[in-house]
Amino acid sequence: MSLLEVKNLKKSFGDNVVLKDISFSVEKGEVLSIIGPSGSGKSTLLRCITDLETEDSGEINFDGTFGLVFQNFNLFPHHSVMKNITNAPLKVQKRDKAEVYEHARDLLKKMGLSDKEDAYPSELSGGQQQRVSIARALCMKPDILFFDEPTSALDPELTGEILAVIKDLAAEHMTMVIVTHEMNFARNVSDTIIFMDEGVIVEEGSPEEVFSSDNQRMKEFLGKFY
Ligand code: ADP
Ligand code: MG
Repeated sequence: MSLLEVKNLKKSFGDNVVLKDISFSVEKGEVLSIIGPSGSGKSTLLRCITDLETEDSGEINFDGTFGLVFQNFNLFPHHSVMKNITNAPLKVQKRDKAEVYEHARDLLKKMGLSDKEDAYPSELSGGQQQRVSIARALCMKPDILFFDEPTSALDPELTGEILAVIKDLAAEHMTMVIVTHEMNFARNVSDTIIFMDEGVIVEEGSPEEVFSSDNQRMKEFLGKFY
């Protein structure tokens, strides 16, 4: 059985049909990247899967914990780094404080932020904030991690450090669904790539398959990057 299964998902906003019968699945340990033009429904798809949005019809089968990393970090500005990371594990998951703090410190170390646990988000660079946000997601011990354009708000010189973190997670076989405009990254890190356009999955396959597709829409989209 797949870790995540999405079946015939449909979602409209008023008469704007944003997701038109989307089906795919994610296996444990798989890295799936979703690419496609702006407005094609990628964020809406992630938001439906993660319960931030309610689908109109279809099925989402996932029994586990997920972590979510947003484009704009979404850290609580009035909480320290440590509190941002430990809040949900303590309050929602009701885990032991000593265990959660130890886990958080391990994650901060892994993110190269050991000296930042008492800092506030505004004192950090965008890249550091995004690494905190990834540590926060990981501290939930997620079965699957969702990223929605994790580098789009970052200056180009900070993008690499975030992509490197995600690459490390892939090497550790973290299951991930990544919406990204970083084509080379998607190509390198993904087991599977989905190309979405206008609310439908136009192409799905290995990076080799998808990037060599003869599909006109796919070729036009990739032409904007290369
Ligand atoms: P992408 O992430 O691929 O850029 P989105 O999922 O953000 O695409 O948006 C797909 C379409 O859904 C767009 O036309 C957008 O305007 C519309 N949309 C997204 N969220 C809402 C919302 N909360 N209310 C109304 N329309 C929305
Ligand atoms: Mg989006």
